[in-house]
Amino acid sequence: NLSERLERSFKILKGQGKITEINVAETLKEVRRALLDADVNYKTAKEFTETVKEKALGQDVLNAVKPEQMMVKIVHDELATLMGGSAAEFNIKGNPAIILMSGLQGSGKTTFSGKLANMLKSKRGKNPLLVAGDVYRPAAIEQLKVLGEQIGVSVYAEEDNKNPVKIAQNAIQYARQHGKDLIIIDTAGRLAIDEKMMNEIESIKKAVNPQEILFVVDSMTGQDAVNTAKEFNQRLDFNGVVLTKLDGDTRGGAALSIRSVVDKPIKFVGTGEKLDAIDVFHPERMADRILGMGDIVSLVEKAQEQYDEEEARRLQKKIAKNQFDFNDFIAQIQQIKKMGNLKDLASMIPGVGKQIKDLDIDDDAFKGIEAIIRSMTPQERTNPEILNGSRRARIAKGSGTNVQEVNKLLKQFDETRKMMRMMTTGGGRQAMRNMGR
Ligand code: GDP
Ligand code: MG
Repeated sequence: NLSERLERSFKILKGQGKITEINVAETLKEVRRALLDADVNYKTAKEFTETVKEKALGQDVLNAVKPEQMMVKIVHDELATLMGGSAAEFNIKGNPAIILMSGLQGSGKTTFSGKLANMLKSKRGKNPLLVAGDVYRPAAIEQLKVLGEQIGVSVYAEEDNKNPVKIAQNAIQYARQHGKDLIIIDTAGRLAIDEKMMNEIESIKKAVNPQEILFVVDSMTGQDAVNTAKEFNQRLDFNGVVLTKLDGDTRGGAALSIRSVVDKPIKFVGTGEKLDAIDVFHPERMADRILGMGDIVSLVEKAQEQYDEEEARRLQKKIAKNQFDFNDFIAQIQQIKKMGNLKDLASMIPGVGKQIKDLDIDDDAFKGIEAIIRSMTPQERTNPEILNGSRRARIAKGSGTNVQEVNKLLKQFDETRKMMRMMTTGGGRQAMRNMGR
C-alpha cells in the first residue's frame, strides 16, 4: 500500500550524510511510483515530486535531523497541500438548505445521512429533515427511520411512491410547512455504476437544485473508489466527497487519488458505525495517517525551531562583537522572506490590515538590496570597511543599480549595526543613564 511504499522510498536516504541532488532524485523516483500506483494522476505526481525536490534541496541543514527524517516532513506537508491544505467549506445556507447524497450501495450513504443530520442539529442548531429517497428496498426506508429515531430527527418517506424525484419535491414542501431549515436526501445506490441509477440521481439534482451534492465512498475500496468518483463527478459535478470506513486499516491513499483525479474537496470522513463517528476532513491529519510517522514530523518541527533559536543566539554574539556583516544581513532578509508574503504578514498585525489593503508592498522590496549584496565579494561582505569608491562603483555596475543606491545601503547597514549593538550590549542602558545626568 501507499504508506509502506513511501516508507520504503525514505529508506534510500538512510545512512546518507545529507540530502543531495542524486539521493533526492532516487528517493523521489520511488515516491512518484508509489503515488502513481495509488492512482494519483501522472501530472499531479510529477508536480508533487518536483515541489518536494525543490524544498528538499533548499532546506537548511539541521544537525539534529537526519536526511530521511527531513524528507518525511517535507513529503508530509506537501501531501497535506495536495489534499487541499485546509478544511473545505460546507454550504448550508438556504431555507431549507438541501443536501443530496450520492454513491454506490454499501458505501455508507444512509449511515452518513444520519451522522450529518445529528451533527448539524447538535453543533449548528439546525432543524433537519431526513428524506428516504431509496425507494427500491423497504428495508432502506426502515433503516433511515430507525436512525432518525435514535437522533431525534424527523424522517420523510412515502412508502407507496416509487418516484424519488416526486418524493424529494414533496419533502421540500413538507420542510417549508414544518419549519425544517435543512433537508438531507438519501438515495438508492447500486453495486456498480448503472445508467438507471445515474439518470435517477441526475433528475433529482435538476428538480431540487441542492446546495451540496456529496459523493460518498468507501475508503477500503481503493482503486475502484477512484473510478466510481470519476463517473459520478462527470454526471453530477458534485461539491464534495465523504470518505467512509476510515476506521478500517486503510491509510487513506484513496483520499489522495480521489482529490487529484476529480479535483473536488473531501469534506467529511466516517470513522465508525456509531452516529457520532463523523469528522470534518483535515488534510494535515490525513497526511499524518498516510505516512504514519507523526512523531518524525514533530521532531523535525522542533529541530527547525531550535535551529532558528541557535541562529538568533549566534547573531547576537556577532552583533555584540561588532561582527555583524553583510552575510548576516542577507540571511536576515531570507528569514523574513521565508515567513511568507510581506503584505500578508503585516496584515496579521491587529489594526494594520485595513490600512495597508491598497498599499503596494511586495516581496520585491528587497530585490535591489539583495542584488547589491550579491555583487560583493565574500571579503567585502565580511569586511564592509574596505568598500572604497572604486569597489562601490563596481558593485553598482554588477548589481544593475547605481552608486547612490549602494551608498544608501551602506549607510543604512552602518546605522543598523550601531543600533543593534546598542540594544544587545546594554549600551542603550548606559546611554540613558548618561542622559539622566
Ligand atoms: P448505503 O447503502 O450507501 O446506504 O450504506 P449504509 O449506510 O447502509 O452502510 C453500509 C454498511 O457500512 C453498514 O453496515 C454501516 O454500518 C457500515 N458503515 C457505514 N459507515 C461506516 C463507517 O464509517 N465505518 C464503519 N466501520 N462502517 C460503516
Ligand atoms: Mg442506504
